Amino acid sequence: MNPLYAKSVIVLANVLMIAIRAPHGRRSRETPVAKSRKGAMEVVLLKIALATYFLTLVWVATPFLAFADYPLHPVPFCAGALCMAIGMWLFRQSHNDLGANFSMSLEMRKRHQLVTHGIYRHIRHPMYLAFFVYLTGQSLVLPNWLAGPADGVAMLLLFAFRVGPEERMMFEEFGTEYGQYMAATGRLTPRLRSLRRW
Ligand code: SAH
Repeated sequence: MNPLYAKSVIVLANVLMIAIRAPHGRRSRETPVAKSRKGAMEVVLLKIALATYFLTLVWVATPFLAFADYPLHPVPFCAGALCMAIGMWLFRQSHNDLGANFSMSLEMRKRHQLVTHGIYRHIRHPMYLAFFVYLTGQSLVLPNWLAGPADGVAMLLLFAFRVGPEERMMFEEFGTEYGQYMAATGRLTPRLRSLRRW
């Protein structure tokens, strides 16, 4: 298949992801930060994520990474595009459910509320799951050994180092309410008990 198909899907998906995030990012920037846990590690991880995102754009717009290209096949391309669409849907749902409580980083906002409805009723980190599904899809769509998996690896690193501190921060803020919420939900997949209540 012509790599232009991959480039078109990636550009379109990026535009949609930016459009989904834009109003939530704006609202988040307008809501004062009550508490921040954005340490040096978090800053480094966000920079790595930004660098790998840039790598994707370099592959789309320039021939610099062509040495690591491989042929694009229809099956991974279609499976990848489907994963990207599911990831985008999950991203949109998570943003809608999280509302004004969203932050790019480890921060509590003024009047922060614990969200336990919608997708958050079953999973504690649906937005991270959305990125995993989306980036798995992107790695299938993007036929390059470097740019293909880079974003997903950066997300894995971010998740591995962030999820523990994030849950500790939430527990400090909401105490037993968050403890009970943790007991009823899974990090990335629903607990069986919570599914039965669905
Ligand atoms: N980890 C979540 C949220 C990502 S946005 C997800 O993957 O869906 C990151 C910010 O969301 C964190 O800094 C925290 O302030 C906030 N947050 C995480 N879980 C939350 C919840 N259940 N209710 C309210 N805010 C939450």
